[in-house]
Amino acid sequence: MVHAADQLEVAAQAKRALAASSILDDVEAVAAKELSPIVTAIDREGVYPEAVMRALGAAGAFKAHVTGIDAGTPDLETAIRAMSKVSEHCLSTAFCMWCQDALGWYLYTSNNEGLKSTLGPAVISGETLGGTALSNPMKTLFGIERLKLKAKRVAGGYTVTGLLPWVSNLGPDHYFCGIFELEDNPGHRVMGAIDCSAPGVRLTQNDDFVALDGTRTFAIGLKDVFIADDRILADPIDAYIQRIRAGFILLQAGMAFGLIRNCISLMRQVRDGLSHVNKYIERQPEDFEASLAELEATTFALCETPFDPDPAYFRRVVEARLAAGEEAVQAAHYAMLHQGARGYVGSAAAQRRLREAYFVAIVTPATKQLRKMLAEMSH
Ligand SMILES: Cc1cc2nc3c(=O)[nH]c(=O)nc-3n(C[C@H](O)[C@H](O)[C@H](O)COP(=O)(O)OP(=O)(O)OC[C@H]3O[C@@H](n4cnc5c(N)ncnc54)[C@H](O)[C@@H]3O)c2cc1C
Repeated sequence: MVHAADQLEVAAQAKRALAASSILDDVEAVAAKELSPIVTAIDREGVYPEAVMRALGAAGAFKAHVTGIDAGTPDLETAIRAMSKVSEHCLSTAFCMWCQDALGWYLYTSNNEGLKSTLGPAVISGETLGGTALSNPMKTLFGIERLKLKAKRVAGGYTVTGLLPWVSNLGPDHYFCGIFELEDNPGHRVMGAIDCSAPGVRLTQNDDFVALDGTRTFAIGLKDVFIADDRILADPIDAYIQRIRAGFILLQAGMAFGLIRNCISLMRQVRDGLSHVNKYIERQPEDFEASLAELEATTFALCETPFDPDPAYFRRVVEARLAAGEEAVQAAHYAMLHQGARGYVGSAAAQRRLREAYFVAIVTPATKQLRKMLAEMSH
């Protein structure tokens, strides 16, 4: 006999699946109609896809993974699938999505109920855009760099000073989250949400990149920026970092999966005319289809328990992220070999995907950081 509670759970699951599939359909439509026509402008002219980001927010792309929304369970799989639909077209936009997703993830994983009811809804709907300045802290926590933002405790909050070289998805009306340490107690680290228009915040565009130039990536200078106590997400950060780190890493898979899928279709595109010679290339689209299916299965299984504190779980997350980054670079490399000269012209997708793919392997946690983490983890 089926219990009422079981029936309710089945109904709730069906409702979640329906909501997820409607988000994915809408995201696919935005990617095809609004993003696809501007990918070359994003890549070559550094156009920031703001209207697309807003449309993705309206489609629900930034809300599936946050705790407490809709069914209450964080659905990282849908967030990754949505990001991967966009990454099939453009990694700049997919990375902006990751920045936005990470911002929402931090807000809703914190205990700051005020921010969850003010900034939170604006972020997950795409009304307010923003990013995450956690590369330096993530490297600091694993012994690669020193924390760059320093703070003083003052009445009602902290004042923060420091310089971060690259933070993306920013603008004058955007927000980002950062981690700073107390000048007089460096072991005490705090995370807060920072308004780009706050007095003392300076955004400077001082680099142009080989790809990902449409991501509004700025150097951020902070000079005595006041962060009020009601903008603090964690103080101290230690337990909170354990809660956010797997989600932070897993969500990046969306960038890799979409890029790999597009590279597979670039290989298939030239199969009819070139199979007599392309069949000698070591890796074929079928090989990447199989590896992508395996990567997705592993990642989506890990997405079910993002707060699992077991070190063995975190090790699997790091391994999955490393594999996704490496396979993205491989897929782009082989797409280039399959496409040949037609992929080498300036407007071709293959050469753009190759430049973009390296970003998946160098964005924090980069391949080298992941390898260091694995080397230092107990088995
Ligand atoms: C397009 C783009 C977008 C990014 N967006 C974000 C973001 O949104 N949030 C975020 O926190 N991080 C961001 N980063 C930083 C990124 O996540 C990595 O931390 C960064 O690429 C360096 O990682 P790494 O492992 O190579 O560092 P390492 O090799 O360990 O060291 C790199 C360090 O060397 C210095 N350095 C090296 N080359 C230069 C240079 N040309 N100019 C200045 N300093 C240099 C910097 O101090 C840097 O921290 C972005 C980077 C890029 C290229």
